[in-house]
Amino acid sequence: MKHLILFGAPGSGKGTQSALIAETYQLKHLSTGDMLRAEIAKQSQLGQLADSYISQGLLLPDDIIIDLLKNTLQQLNEDTKGIILDGFPRTVAQAIALNSLVAELNQEILMLIEITVKTPELIERLVQRGKLLGRSDDNPATIQHRLEVYHQQTEPVIDFYRQAGKYNHVDGNGTIEQIFDRICLILDPLVAINV
Ligand code: ADP
Repeated sequence: MKHLILFGAPGSGKGTQSALIAETYQLKHLSTGDMLRAEIAKQSQLGQLADSYISQGLLLPDDIIIDLLKNTLQQLNEDTKGIILDGFPRTVAQAIALNSLVAELNQEILMLIEITVKTPELIERLVQRGKLLGRSDDNPATIQHRLEVYHQQTEPVIDFYRQAGKYNHVDGNGTIEQIFDRICLILDPLVAINV
């Protein structure tokens, strides 16, 4: 089983593009943010904890999120081709844990693709999304904080995959279709080798 990581700052379009990738390449879309929001909706213990971090624009502790992912990867159905990971790993500790986990389970990370978008555009998109969807973390103060957290804690993950020869990136400006086409240019040859 071979997995892909879609990577980028809040507002870069990871969720939208992951859904398209999942559909086109028959991968399972796994968004840690969506999983946590589902727990919040259920008002589970994990949901209550997640809510306190998410609404402040903070990352959940690594051990909690790694456990969540571990359970999911262990429960994958045999005929799952692979996963598109959206929102994980978000720290170098998570990337290291993911490496051991996939090795243990005889799975593999094929590649990390970063969607790059300039900060003013990210802020604009997140403010608009806040107005449309009313997500608790899409307000100006929390957006600012999430972007800082991204630069400090999440961006270093890029070097981890770059050093492993598994890093690629696409320009995240343009229409959803244009960005998806750019991602397909990377994925098509990769999929042809790995089917
Ligand atoms: P965005 O990329 O727009 O910030 P996500 O839905 O990916 O949105 O994540 C929302 C929030 O969920 C994050 O700000 C964080 O609080 C929490 N979260 C999601 N994934 C992780 C993760 N891998 N590690 C820690 N916290 C996470």
